[in-house]
Amino acid sequence: MNNYDVVIVGAGPAGLACARALSKSNLSVLVLEKNDRLGKKICSGEISPKVLPDEKFDRGHPWKSMVIGTDTTKHKVNFDRPYLWTIGRFEFESYLMSKTKADIHFSEPVIKITREYVQTEKAKYSYKYLVGADGSFSKVREFLSLPAKHIVGWAFHVVLNKPANEFHLYWLPKSFPKCYGYVMSKNRNQTMIGVATTGERFDHGFARRAKLWIQDQFSIDTGNLKSESMKGNADYKGWEFGNIFLAGDAGGFLNPLTTEGIYYAITSGEGVAKAILGDPKGRAIMKKLADTHLWQVRIFDLATNTKLPFCWIINWILQDPRKGIRRKIFDYVLWKLIG
Ligand SMILES: Cc1cc2nc3c(=O)[nH]c(=O)nc-3n(C[C@H](O)[C@H](O)[C@H](O)COP(=O)(O)OP(=O)(O)OC[C@H]3O[C@@H](n4cnc5c(N)ncnc54)[C@H](O)[C@@H]3O)c2cc1C
Repeated sequence: MNNYDVVIVGAGPAGLACARALSKSNLSVLVLEKNDRLGKKICSGEISPKVLPDEKFDRGHPWKSMVIGTDTTKHKVNFDRPYLWTIGRFEFESYLMSKTKADIHFSEPVIKITREYVQTEKAKYSYKYLVGADGSFSKVREFLSLPAKHIVGWAFHVVLNKPANEFHLYWLPKSFPKCYGYVMSKNRNQTMIGVATTGERFDHGFARRAKLWIQDQFSIDTGNLKSESMKGNADYKGWEFGNIFLAGDAGGFLNPLTTEGIYYAITSGEGVAKAILGDPKGRAIMKKLADTHLWQVRIFDLATNTKLPFCWIINWILQDPRKGIRRKIFDYVLWKLIG
């Protein structure tokens, strides 16, 4: 048995941010990662202005315009400053890892968890504190018997082997209720075009319809393109369970309105680390995140209920958010969510 003060499961943004914040202490910290390297998560790899605003690192490609579409419209909206940067997962996680002193073991999926230790195929590791930062299919969350139902979802897309030259978002209450369409970068060198929807399990019928939508909307033959899907978890049910903690997607901190998750992963990772260190700021961070999350869920439920006027208002704004009152509301909401 190998003994550590803190074992973190998952070397994504949540796990690495937690390990980085713990590096300021004398605690022994181990990060167990199932993949053989960083940056493999299926993700667009974009960060918003609120991600580590005081730190200097290469944030990547800045986005200052966005194509907004609905079932029947499509318009380009320009901004005077970037609302996102495509940094890429590998680059971002490498930056976080460069600031941690923790032991990081790659190719070591955690296969068993008990209240005293975690086990991989290679070894057993005892812990005083265990952090589940293992994403939307979290084994730690499963060990805690926490379901993930409201709100979880799937993104389905095809991948083009060239960088995205535009960022598109589609609000599609008629053809795909509770879904949004997207064209985004996939890290720095590829583009992903697809639709995200809610639901616990992957829906093959939905994937077929999404492919047809991609073909019609962008005149792309999807037949020869690689397709991918990935689950997101925005079903927050708590973060502290005795000496076991959840951060990032494992904790359901994903923002259901924007599916921005990197900011919430690093903030919850840091919050958990501070709580372990006994710093009262940790609990304050986690309380703020939980409160914000509950508001996001309320607004998501209102916005995606096609029977409610709130949903019609959003449809009206997004039909042409370029000027007038629609632009004012659009800007207010965008910078509130992302800035
Ligand atoms: C298609 C798509 C695009 C997205 N684009 C963006 C975006 O551009 N910007 C943004 O902010 N958010 C985006 N998100 C959300 C974002 O990807 C997640 O919210 C974020 O990755 C959560 O970070 P995390 O560290 O909690 O989990 P993850 O990034 O999922 O990291 C979890 C880590 O744990 C490891 N792991 C899992 N199980 C085990 C195990 N048993 N043992 C050991 N290791 C394990 C995994 O390999 C992984 O490295 C996107 C999501 C999707 C689905």
